[in-house]
Amino acid sequence: MTIARVLLANRGEIAVRIIKACRALGVESVVTVSEADRESLPSKMADRVVCIGPARAIDSYLRVEAIIAAATGTGSDAIHPGYGFLAEKPELADACAKYGLTFIGPRAEHLRQMGNKLLAREMVSGYGIPIVPGSKKVGNIQEASAVAGTIGFPILFKAAAGGGGRGIKIVTDRGELQRAFETASAEARAAFGDNTLYIERYIPNARHIEVQILGDRFGNVIHLGERDCSLQRRYQKLIEEAPASCISNHLREEIRCAAVIIAKEMRYENAGTVEFVVDQDSGKFYFLEMNTRIQVEHPVTEMITDIDLVKEQICIADGQPLAFSQSDVRFTGHAVECRINAESPRDGFRPCPGSIIEWAPPEGPFIRVDTHCFPGYFVPPYYDSLLAKLITQGADRREAVERMRHALESFVISGVDTTIPFLRFLLDQLAYTEGEVNTRWVESRLDQFSL
Ligand code: ADP
Ligand code: ADP
Ligand code: MG
Repeated sequence: MTIARVLLANRGEIAVRIIKACRALGVESVVTVSEADRESLPSKMADRVVCIGPARAIDSYLRVEAIIAAATGTGSDAIHPGYGFLAEKPELADACAKYGLTFIGPRAEHLRQMGNKLLAREMVSGYGIPIVPGSKKVGNIQEASAVAGTIGFPILFKAAAGGGGRGIKIVTDRGELQRAFETASAEARAAFGDNTLYIERYIPNARHIEVQILGDRFGNVIHLGERDCSLQRRYQKLIEEAPASCISNHLREEIRCAAVIIAKEMRYENAGTVEFVVDQDSGKFYFLEMNTRIQVEHPVTEMITDIDLVKEQICIADGQPLAFSQSDVRFTGHAVECRINAESPRDGFRPCPGSIIEWAPPEGPFIRVDTHCFPGYFVPPYYDSLLAKLITQGADRREAVERMRHALESFVISGVDTTIPFLRFLLDQLAYTEGEVNTRWVESRLDQFSL
């Protein structure tokens, strides 16, 4: 290992996760924090802490120069960006190259290609992979109207630069088109600084299936199986699992293979995820996007493969070839992850920052908790409200889900509202147990939960 010290440019549970991977590799960790995160768990755990600015992300976690200065000033060799913040911004990867630092992620050109959904769709369809029927850039309402006429409603407006479920607007009929176009465009500009929109046909009875990829500098690419992330609210994932139990083995192989083709053709390096939608009515699958980073839900894959994805990311960035081949990857059992957020599910999922009084996560075999929280921790209002990811494992789906029910039940948190009651409600639904859901299912249960 030539990397001796890693700077991690992130916060929260993923910062803790990366520090643990560094420790396991005998690598030192330096964490950058905002003024609001000085007392955070990552700052207590890391070998060194550098404060890079005020609480607001724009003044701290999104400042490329401040992060580079922290890395060079502490003699770090590499930067791990985690997810969110600068993880998919080519500017950080470029700056790393300029200052002789290793970016723990793919090459900047791949961040650029996949960071623009229009470029990504074009590239991937060039490899012969099906993409959701849709358009190129739509620049005005006339163009949008013409495209919608050929595709047919419902359609989605999507921001080319979008991510995190933001910048997506559904349009069910022609009467809504103009207003939706204007709001989608304004929101995309505000959120991503780029109002480029395009249209995709909306698939009403869809599953979100994604494939975990690892690629090294030598052109080796393997997949670590797929995850089903169909339980979503506002296009954001709530519960994920691996493997996907809703698809035939034939379709599973096709989707895995499509993801590997994409990564091989690109000569993709490091960890990445290729996302697809499966149309449950036609049985067809389509490429959605590729996430060029570690994902929030990576633990479910780790549970069923016994492969430490963050360690692999660091080793790949270090220039090492993958230590295993596709046939070495073994899939065992089933894993489920619930995202626990500081939000009030009975109050429109309003974010609920504040002081955590009691914090007692479940423990035991087959349970994993990824978190940065502890009793007395103050959840700041400035960032994503994710408190913890609870992951359970079982020999099969039924057992993993049963263990999740018990684990959620025994998770004690007081002081802030959390999404646990809503997660428990979902897990008790017959449709969930039977695996008969689609990406709209969670939202269809909201009214019943509120009763
Ligand atoms: P995952 O598939 O890893 O669960 P998400 O879509 O939930 O990814 O996003 C993970 C994190 O990254 C979230 O905090 C989300 O808000 C953030 N994120 C993802 N893409 C973007 C983007 N383009 N701009 C800003 N934040 C993003
Ligand atoms: P993001 O970059 O915000 O994650 P995605 O393109 O991955 O954007 O879409 C987020 C979610 O929105 C998907 O997981 C899926 O549930 C839903 N979605 C996106 N495109 C479509 C589509 N064409 N039809 C149906 N659902 C879609
Ligand atoms: Mg996505």
